[in-house]
Amino acid sequence: MSEKHSQNSSIEKICHDSDCAEKIGHLKVEQQNLFKTFTYCPYCAEELMLVCQSCREQLNSSEFKYCPWCGAKFDDPLDR
Ligand SMILES: [Zn+2]
Ligand SMILES: [Zn+2]
Repeated sequence: MSEKHSQNSSIEKICHDSDCAEKIGHLKVEQQNLFKTFTYCPYCAEELMLVCQSCREQLNSSEFKYCPWCGAKFDDPLDR
């Protein structure tokens, strides 16, 4: 494995609904981190989607170690 991408990122969970995304954006960092363990949005009960924190593109697995869109390395996988 070559280390051509040195950029680091992490996986975020956000809601499709922009109102919820705004609410989530106003939460404290600890609360936002809690969202990584959620499956559904606590505001509208929609399933949360995973995005790359770096490029904001949607991911279809929480087990990715690298972003398939921008190549950033996820140093904090969600499988804990
Ligand atoms: Zn929501
Ligand atoms: Zn990315």
